[in-house]
Amino acid sequence: MTRAAGPDIERLRADFPGLERQIYGKPLVYLDNAATAQKPRVVIDAVRRYYEEDCSNVHRGVHVLSQRATERYEASRAAARRLINAAHNEEIVFVRGVTEAVNLVAQTYGRTQLGDGDEVLITAMEHHSNIVPWQILCEQTGAMLRVVPIDDSGEMIFSEFERLLGSRTRFVSIAHASNALGTVNPIDRVVSVAHAQGVPVFVDGAQGAPHRPVDVQALDCDFYAFSGHKLYGPTGVGVLYGKLGLLEAMPPYQSGGEMIESVSFGKTTYARPPHKFEAGTPNIAGVIGLGAAIDYVTTIGLESVVLHERDLLDYGTRALRQIDAVRLIGTARDKTGILSFAIDGVHPHDAGTILDREGIAVRTGHHCAQPVMDRFGVPATTRASFGIYTTREEIDALAAGIRKVIEVFARHG
Ligand code: PMP
Repeated sequence: MTRAAGPDIERLRADFPGLERQIYGKPLVYLDNAATAQKPRVVIDAVRRYYEEDCSNVHRGVHVLSQRATERYEASRAAARRLINAAHNEEIVFVRGVTEAVNLVAQTYGRTQLGDGDEVLITAMEHHSNIVPWQILCEQTGAMLRVVPIDDSGEMIFSEFERLLGSRTRFVSIAHASNALGTVNPIDRVVSVAHAQGVPVFVDGAQGAPHRPVDVQALDCDFYAFSGHKLYGPTGVGVLYGKLGLLEAMPPYQSGGEMIESVSFGKTTYARPPHKFEAGTPNIAGVIGLGAAIDYVTTIGLESVVLHERDLLDYGTRALRQIDAVRLIGTARDKTGILSFAIDGVHPHDAGTILDREGIAVRTGHHCAQPVMDRFGVPATTRASFGIYTTREEIDALAAGIRKVIEVFARHG
C-alpha cells in the first residue's frame, strides 16, 4: 500500500521480522508504537555484528577490536547529531533513555541552579518521567513545580503558559508530543517566550524525534532528549542533547571510570562533555544499534514519515468517530499518530484483552500520565499508536476489533 509521497509500506514492512508474527493464529496488528517500536533487521544485525565481530570496550584499548567498536560507537554519536541537527558531536550524550536524561538534567543543572522559591514549569500532559524528577528536585531545593493546564482537546493553554512563566521561573520542561494524547506542542513558541525571560527549556522528545524532523538549532531549545527504542532502535539507550556551554558548566551526574581527565586522592578533574556524563562502560551494542536505527529512519526520511502518519491519523480518527460508543481523548489540531479513546461501559483493560485475542496489540492504562487521565475524568484509556509500517488495513482491523468489544459487552455486560 503506497500513498502519495509516503514511504513504500509493503517493502518497508519486510524489514521488520517482528511484524511477521501470528498471535492467536491471527496476523499481528502492532499498534503500540508509542510504548516501543519494532526493530528493523539492520538494527538487529548491527547489534549482533558488534557482539560477534567487534566485541570489546570503547575508548580504552589500542587493539583493533576496541578501535572498531569505538569508531562505531562514535559514528552513532555523529548520526544522532545529524538527526537533530546539533552543532557539535560533544552535545550528544548517550543515556538510557528520556527517563535518565530528565533525571540527569534535574540533578546536575537543576541541583546547582535552582533554590528556595524558584519555579520549574511543566505542562499537565507530561509523562511521569517529566514530572517526578522535578518533584524530587523541588523537595531537595525548596523550588516549586508549576503546571500549565490543558484544554478539552488536549492542547496546552498557551496564555496560561505565558501567565505562569514568571519572574521566579528558572526552568521549563515540556513534551514535544504527548504519549497519552498525541498532542504536539508548539516548541518554537515555548522556547522563544521562555528565552525572552532568560529561562532555559528542556524538550522531552520521546514522542517527537521518532515522528517529526527535529532541528535543535532552529528550535533553539537548551536540552532535547529521545529514547532509542521508540525510534526503531534497541532498548536501554537514548540521547540527551544539551547546548555545549550548558553541558560544560554542569557538574557530573554519575562518576567513576570514563568520565575523568585525571584522578588522584587529592583532586580529580573531569573529562569534557559528552564523556563527563558517560561514566562507566556504556551500552555499546545499544548505541551502535541506535546508530543503525537513525540511519534507517533517515533513509526513509522523516518528512515522509510525517505524511504517512498524518494519513493514518486522519483515516483512524474518521474510522473511530463512526463508532458511537467511542470517545476520543485528545483531539488537538496538531497530533502524532496516536488515538487514545474510551468505550462507553467498557473498562480499557477488558477492551485491550479482547483486542489482544484478535491479534491487535494496543496499550491500555494511564500511560504513565495519570494527571492526563484525571483531567479527562477517566481511570485509563485504550491507546492505538502508529509507526512507519502501520497500514490503513490495520486500522480497519482495529475498528472491527472495537466493534467486537462492544458486541461482547452488549451480550454479556
Ligand atoms: N516521555 C514520554 C512522552 C514518553 O512517551 C516516554 C516513554 N513512554 C518517556 C518520556 C520515557 O521514556 P523511556 O521510558 O524510554 O525513558
